Amino acid sequence: MYWNPNKECMSRDEMSALQGKRLHKIVKYVYHNVPFYRNKLQEMDLTPDDILTIEDIVKLPFTTKQDLRDNYPFGLQAAPQSEIIRIHASSGTTGNPTIVGYTRKDIGVWSECMARALTAYGVVRDDIFSVSYGYGLFTGGLGAHNGVEMVGAAVVPASTGNTEKHAKLIRDLGISGIACTPSYALYLAETMEQLGITRDQIRLRVGAFGAEPWTANMRREIEERLGLKGYNLYGLSEIMGPSVSYECQLQNGSHVNEDHFFPEIIDPVTLAPLPAGQSGELVFTTLTKEGMPLLRYRTRDLCSLMPGVCDCGRTSVRMTPITGRSDDMLIIRGINVFPSQVESVVLDMKEIAPRYLLVVDRVNNLDTLQVQVELRQEYFTATFDTPAAIDELSRRLALKLRSVLNIGVKVVLKAPNTIERSQGKSAHVIDNRNIQ
Ligand code: ADP
Ligand code: ZN
Repeated sequence: MYWNPNKECMSRDEMSALQGKRLHKIVKYVYHNVPFYRNKLQEMDLTPDDILTIEDIVKLPFTTKQDLRDNYPFGLQAAPQSEIIRIHASSGTTGNPTIVGYTRKDIGVWSECMARALTAYGVVRDDIFSVSYGYGLFTGGLGAHNGVEMVGAAVVPASTGNTEKHAKLIRDLGISGIACTPSYALYLAETMEQLGITRDQIRLRVGAFGAEPWTANMRREIEERLGLKGYNLYGLSEIMGPSVSYECQLQNGSHVNEDHFFPEIIDPVTLAPLPAGQSGELVFTTLTKEGMPLLRYRTRDLCSLMPGVCDCGRTSVRMTPITGRSDDMLIIRGINVFPSQVESVVLDMKEIAPRYLLVVDRVNNLDTLQVQVELRQEYFTATFDTPAAIDELSRRLALKLRSVLNIGVKVVLKAPNTIERSQGKSAHVIDNRNIQ
């Protein structure tokens, strides 16, 4: 089932022509309305008439998170303030938050993109769908909410927090779909287990999970514990919010809503565009946005693009799961380490709970990596009196991690429920090397 087959199943030629037309128009629009872009284009000796087809996109300058911060709060806004009807902001842990204004048309496009995603997941009007991304400045809550309403399912704006009440509502209302971070889904599963709510008492069947990277193992774990099918939902506030891309029933990559958001993959160091299939930094150009259109925005997310028609019938390009952010990558003793690599090992071990924390330090000028994990309750109870079993487990985990990461790791096994839970995005890394 499609929400908008005209766009989702367009032929490649038609899509490229539409993208080219929209790109020309958006470049003209920012040239006339955003001094930042006009200056950049003038410096490069470009005018909107140099950008006529989608292939011309490589001539355009990149935009970075720093550009957004430097132009805080409204410097990159293209629409007049009277046209803006919603303002979101990203977390901004490392400086000024990023402010994103949306016009009424932008909110309409966003809702449709989200409706396409939900329809691909199989959500229909009869569903009762709970949105447990945070509502507020974060785009997750309201973004998913509007899409559910557009599809016509009943939205339960549960947000995060108050998890016990939410767990009971899932049982009592027969909630059939949920949108939240993968880590919150696991937290919810734990809360349900503590409340004695069993899988046969709930009717969850669809999960829209995103806002943070998650692995195949994490998916399996959530699906088993909540009895649903978990689909990937990707997005970022600078470009729109959730639903920039979404998985279909085949779950072989996430379909990009490429009539609105044009994706490219570049080498994060040389900035050269990379051919399809190669992994690098994902870059998006908004093709229709009015509030804050962005040209070639560097997401810092790492993945690759998969062209070609999907068996579901959608022709839109797919992106592989995000393995991390280019700025998420830890360099430990010169070796690149992504938290997702640790996650896939941890989630493969049945004795260990799906939680982990990487603690990086520098001792005598040498980087050290400690991986903290939690024992599952059953295993903890069973081995409480047998330190030898714990030792063996710890050695086995350390060996596995070493073979995947190619560096030695100190494993710390912790009692159940001792690593801090997150309701939104999980923080998986503490890097003490920066603290002098
Ligand atoms: P920020 O985290 O920079 O404040 P957002 O709240 O908009 O900004 O989050 C967007 C980021 O979240 C993306 O750039 C990406 O790193 C991450 N993200 C969102 N959805 C997914 C997903 N499905 N898989 C992996 N990472 C995701
Ligand atoms: Zn598909």
